[in-house]
Amino acid sequence: ASGYSLLREPHHNKDLAFTEKERDAHFLRGLLPPVVFSHDLQVKKMMDNIRQYQVPLQRYQAMIDLQARNERLFYKLLIENVEELLPIVYTPTVGEACQKYGSIFKNPQGLFISLKDKGKILEILKNWPQKKIQVIVVTDGERILGLGDLGCQGMGIPVGKLSLYTALGGVRPSACLPITIDVGTNNEKMLNDEFYIGLRQRRATGQEYAELMNEFMSAVKQNYGEKVLIQFEDFANHNAFDLLEKYRTTHLVFNDDIQGTASVVLAGLISALKLVGGSLADHKFLFLGAGEAGTGIAELIALEISKQTNIPLEESRKKVWLVDSKGLIVRSRLDSLQHFKKPWAHDHEPVDKFLDAIKTIRPTVLIGSSGTGQTFTKEVVETMSSLNEKPIILALSNPTSQSECTAEQAYTWSEGRAIFASGSPFGPVEYNGKLYMSGQANNAYIFPGFGLGLIISGAIRVHDDMLLAASEALAEQVTEEHFDNGLIYPPFTNIRKISAHIAAKVAAKAYELGLASRLPQPENLVAYAESCMYSPKYRSYR
Ligand code: NAP
Ligand code: MN
Repeated sequence: ASGYSLLREPHHNKDLAFTEKERDAHFLRGLLPPVVFSHDLQVKKMMDNIRQYQVPLQRYQAMIDLQARNERLFYKLLIENVEELLPIVYTPTVGEACQKYGSIFKNPQGLFISLKDKGKILEILKNWPQKKIQVIVVTDGERILGLGDLGCQGMGIPVGKLSLYTALGGVRPSACLPITIDVGTNNEKMLNDEFYIGLRQRRATGQEYAELMNEFMSAVKQNYGEKVLIQFEDFANHNAFDLLEKYRTTHLVFNDDIQGTASVVLAGLISALKLVGGSLADHKFLFLGAGEAGTGIAELIALEISKQTNIPLEESRKKVWLVDSKGLIVRSRLDSLQHFKKPWAHDHEPVDKFLDAIKTIRPTVLIGSSGTGQTFTKEVVETMSSLNEKPIILALSNPTSQSECTAEQAYTWSEGRAIFASGSPFGPVEYNGKLYMSGQANNAYIFPGFGLGLIISGAIRVHDDMLLAASEALAEQVTEEHFDNGLIYPPFTNIRKISAHIAAKVAAKAYELGLASRLPQPENLVAYAESCMYSPKYRSYR
């Protein structure tokens, strides 16, 4: 290839890191200034550049531009500065990018499949330049983060998620495929925006929606085989549960909003128990919010309890209670409940108010997953603290403005007794002269390692026991030192090591369940996982 095209090919480009010899051999002389930079110096310079931007969206833009120009530099930057850059390439900044996606859209970063493409989806897949795909993240844009329906502009989400698959989980970038399915949008602002990039019509539903999804799922399996992981991301809950249910027996599917959330929260609970004492079965759980996150977590908790104690699932579910916008979920509401809420309709009087539900259920663990902020009021936290020596309080709603309470509120109102973690990060809090660090129940702890585990074992189906294995693997990574600070999650700095451990546990479970197709089973799965992980190191061209 000519030097000029080498510079324009993000998989190969090294910018100023091309050596003198490479410049000679590949017709690069004169196309670059005379200096030769090391990869490390490039990272330093790029971080300098990025930090000069005050506006997060400008930092996002700089990262996206870098990804399109020099892929290995992009990933080295992300891997080495994960804590700083995660909020840029993913939530919260990615949300803003999606809202404005129409205007910053430059290179195609993934595949767009719309209702207009009915009957041609297989052809579209063949248009993607990479043929060996291992992970697809797909959205229909209906529930992007906490921002609602962003239609076709949801593309930022699969793109961002997959860059984390690579940076955090070590899946090769060329094996990742972001896809947005455009079935219209109900977002009035977009429908009326002359610059909107998607289909200008209301969302297709029912049979029309199901048929397009079905063609998509079949085409993916036909084109990439049985072992490609399809991660559903940011679908509204009325479709998310159905899609997962429908395809879990025929495809390798995973819904991060339901299953990934459940696994990361269960990990936090397992490690919180080391601080609070007792086993899961000794605890009682109350949720505010009974959607994808809430019922997904609830189900995994019940499953783990029933594994640990041999109590049937129907019984262990009775330790978990949920409140939705209409109050406590109880038996008398059964007929009018959406099907994913029905398993949680236990025998109890109706209770309208959340605070009253806390007083009658007397939970030891309180989990906020309603997407509505400031719902863990002073009275709520004080009531939890009067019921429990160490109340476990998880405020999962995102973004920060929607958090059920802040870390400071949780520690202050519980007089420093709460074990607290949240969906959006909070800094350390000082209370009565003591420093409290709270953990972030970030899905990015789980899904990259989980996906890697599926890939390295050649798994053909996802089984709930693999989610439990991932939770246990993550909880094992929390050390005494973290506990001393009140942390129930490990710091993000070691995330690639954490991912390798999760991958190993998930793969081991796949082998145990007979769902792994990569044979024979590697002896040391952690070492094998690490050896499979993508490294952003430059290759040398001779
Ligand atoms: P969802 O499927 O739309 O569910 C929301 C649930 O909350 C519904 O059951 C809804 O009730 C209920 N609700 C809404 N407002 C309420 C209120 N004022 N009082 C009581 N219940 C209320 O949403 P989701 O996907 O589960 O996400 C929920 C939140 O969790 C979001 O903020 C999201 O960012 C967060 N989340 C965090 C993590 C994490 O920390 N790792 C992961 C995933 C999601 P109805 O059913 O009656 O409408
Ligand atoms: Mn999501």
